[in-house]
Amino acid sequence: MTTPQFPARDIGRFSDRHIGPDAEAERRMLETVGYDSIDDLMDAAIPEAIRWTGTLDLPPAATEDEVIAELRALAARNTVAVSMIGLGYHGTHTPAVIRRNVLENPAWYTAYTPYQPEISQGRLEALLNFQTMVTDLTGLATANASMLDEGTAAAEAMTLARRAGKSSSPVYVVDADTLPQTIAVLATRAEPLGIEVRVVDLDTEPLPAQFFGLHLQYPGASGAVRDHTALVEAAHATGALVTVAADLLALTLLRPPGEIGVDIAAGTTQRFGVPMGFGGPHAGYLAVRGGLERMLPGRLVGVSRDAAGDPAYRLALQTREQHIRRERATSNICTAQVLLAVMAGMYAVYHGPAGLRAIAQRVHRRAATLDRLLRDLDDPQITLVHQAYFDTLLVQVPGRAERVLADAADRGVNLRLVDADHVGISCDETTTGAHLATVADVFARLSGSTSAGVPDAVEAPSALPAGLARTSDFLAHPVFRSHHSETAMLRYLRRLSDLDYALDRGMIPLGSCTMKLNATTEMEPVSWAEFADIHPFAPAAQTAGYAELVASLERWLAEVTGYDAVSVQPNAGSQGELAGLLAIRAYHRERGEAHRDVCLIPSSAHGTNAASAVMAGMRVVVVGCDGDGDVDLADLDRKIEAHRDTLAAIMVTYPSTHGVYEGGIATLCARVHDAGGQVYVDGANLNALLGFAKPGRFGADVSHLNLHKTFCIPHGGGGPGVGPVAVRAHLAPYLPGDPLGTDGPARPAVSAARYGSAGILPIPWAYLRLMGPEGLTRATGVAVLAANYVATRLRGHYPVLYAGNKGLVAHECILDLRGLTKATGVSVNDVAKRLIDYGFHAPTMSFPVAGTLMVEPTESEDLAELDRFCAAMIAIRAEIDQVGTGEWPTGDNPLANAPHTAVMVSGDDWPHPYPRSVAAYPGGVDRLGKYWPPVRRIDDAYGDRNLVCACPPPEAFEN
Ligand SMILES: *Cc1c(COP(=O)(O)O)cnc(C)c1O
Repeated sequence: MTTPQFPARDIGRFSDRHIGPDAEAERRMLETVGYDSIDDLMDAAIPEAIRWTGTLDLPPAATEDEVIAELRALAARNTVAVSMIGLGYHGTHTPAVIRRNVLENPAWYTAYTPYQPEISQGRLEALLNFQTMVTDLTGLATANASMLDEGTAAAEAMTLARRAGKSSSPVYVVDADTLPQTIAVLATRAEPLGIEVRVVDLDTEPLPAQFFGLHLQYPGASGAVRDHTALVEAAHATGALVTVAADLLALTLLRPPGEIGVDIAAGTTQRFGVPMGFGGPHAGYLAVRGGLERMLPGRLVGVSRDAAGDPAYRLALQTREQHIRRERATSNICTAQVLLAVMAGMYAVYHGPAGLRAIAQRVHRRAATLDRLLRDLDDPQITLVHQAYFDTLLVQVPGRAERVLADAADRGVNLRLVDADHVGISCDETTTGAHLATVADVFARLSGSTSAGVPDAVEAPSALPAGLARTSDFLAHPVFRSHHSETAMLRYLRRLSDLDYALDRGMIPLGSCTMKLNATTEMEPVSWAEFADIHPFAPAAQTAGYAELVASLERWLAEVTGYDAVSVQPNAGSQGELAGLLAIRAYHRERGEAHRDVCLIPSSAHGTNAASAVMAGMRVVVVGCDGDGDVDLADLDRKIEAHRDTLAAIMVTYPSTHGVYEGGIATLCARVHDAGGQVYVDGANLNALLGFAKPGRFGADVSHLNLHKTFCIPHGGGGPGVGPVAVRAHLAPYLPGDPLGTDGPARPAVSAARYGSAGILPIPWAYLRLMGPEGLTRATGVAVLAANYVATRLRGHYPVLYAGNKGLVAHECILDLRGLTKATGVSVNDVAKRLIDYGFHAPTMSFPVAGTLMVEPTESEDLAELDRFCAAMIAIRAEIDQVGTGEWPTGDNPLANAPHTAVMVSGDDWPHPYPRSVAAYPGGVDRLGKYWPPVRRIDDAYGDRNLVCACPPPEAFEN
């Protein structure tokens, strides 16, 4: 008789679902690595000086059902009102086919940034649609593949104008009728760069004599539609560049900025089917005229060709990005808003040009109808300020604006309080006749009339100025004219997602990116109306659920990191870096040490670090690494000595970008503090620390976290993200906050919305609740075990570049291919592409060390998948040897020709010295589940030389 075995997994315990290896797998992995338990392994791996042995003070783990119930209760404390606040956030109908098949579809939301273009053709096409939509609607030459929001897009436009313009003036003129949150972000970003933002009422004041750039809003925040032609000419006459922040829906009816010579357009695409989400995430956009494309920040999708000469998409001009240019990068933006850009682009695909115009016309008609109803009241105390508008009315009601707002709110409609005498009312795609009737009735009562007119009965003339009507065509490409039935749309989305490799197909072992499980339960609340359909400026009484969710999340993040205060406002890691460095800058200034402006950054740092330091007005001084890959403490001493009086901060990543727990971290912190500097620990690698060490306790002053890495927000194909900034108490006064000072003193802002990408905060909230203190700690242990397991299994085939205590790595390991490349000519790129044939996404390539692969398996991959990956890498090593021995020629072998498409291996002509089966089904590849890349290897240089960043004509694909 054998004793009955109890299941190794607890069926109710979420952490047993989140963590891939079960108890038996864990035992086998420990055996391979040579430790008895995860605790032993972690004791050996983590330096004593930073090890924290307490229990996280978090609520105990809850089940999935319990967490959904808790989130339902929080959601119930938010009130979904009719939003007519406007200010850059509008109600919109997300087509259900897009909601379910993009926003809620792991094939889209679990994908990585398309750095491996051969496995990313679907999302690259979707982003090219987005870029084409933006260039067509703005009338400009080139648009990038999304920005973080309108405020930061406007800020990037400002710095672009400064780089590109000839004026030496520090003045940036901002139209007073610009969204207030945009002005706030511009002010934050201008100050450290010595740019002077001058807000000017351009209706009444002249332009200054000298300025390097001009920012206009079109239509204005007040709703006014103005002809900007004369201002653009005047600005150009002084050598300044002009940015127009334009509403893309309005541009379907109004003359686009590109047609009056504007240099840059910036804005948001939120109202193209992306829910407001209490402020985000949405895709911002940035477009430029011809001649500026090589200075455009952010990711840019372009068209190139593959090894067979067929057109293929890829990211273009990557040399502009911080990964390569570091402190000379065009911007620090890395994670952007891909998933939301895909949604907005698909909204345009689904509606097409005629549909978009019809939506815009209906929105305008609603506004014009309300205008008529208010005029019909014939009350001199209720007047319209602007006669030309698109969707927004500015109503003057002397002394009674607050009362109008309160009456409307009582009836479930939110309006905008401009000041004591003015109310703003915005119509959108969701505005109905009933909503107009309610608003008109509020005004009717105010003026003592018994009732207002009936919306459907009034004839309302257009209030769009005839001279500004759009006459040019847009979205002429067939993609915007072919998918208007739901069947066609469904199939188009399916076709594109089938081209891509995302986490729903297999492991994405990208070092530094932490591509772990994005659990369905964590994702579900994101599309609930009580989280999705809330305006960021909705009254506090309607957002109590969000307030509590944000407060508890910030508290829990402070607990796990050992800091005193957290702000979730930054909407990507890069923005958290900037916020943290700005806090350091403000701290030094407050103490009369404004001259401290040197930021030490190790040579191994992520590119965003250096770019962020420059944006925060700091000078970057690089600290070298020693032979073990650690920060060279002797060089650190030298650099501290050389800059002792001007030292502002050091920015280090922990564990290092080499995936190692450096022993010297506590010493490093102490030495920088001794010299009067602050310590910034880049927290992107928190997945190796959570529950075992706390940066706020081992000497750091500030960190950002990447909730889209450690805390399960899906990568979305390159965004959204959330990059909270966490600080010790002395820096807390300088955290970003509400720039509009709604319920306290105004604070600087790094994002347009007070809580940044609030709409996806239920995801990390749910993760923390589901895992609890033990689950989170075990996840860290298993992540480190998995990395060490892979390192141990592959060490004999590829040298593992760096290791720390006892030869252990942290949560990722670097496989060094440089020796093999030298001996055989097989490059790290060849291996990355060959992995596609084996059914894998490549690890991180050539970061932080050129010629290497960095593997981060995460805790979510089970042992079978880890073994499948190791087997593929070992098989590839054998293939490299076959090239090395000359069995296969250098230029014609399965590695050099990878990846192999179905078209290639089924071709009638097969001139290669290895069989087709080796090409397509190398050892161990699942014959039924084979992932076929749609294109062969893509020629990067060709695409940069022949820059095409909009949808190519269909004939380009004829063969
Ligand atoms: C991912 C990452 C960043 C940047 O974060 P984003 O969210 O992409 O802006 C910074 N540092 C490190 C070490 C990272 O891995």
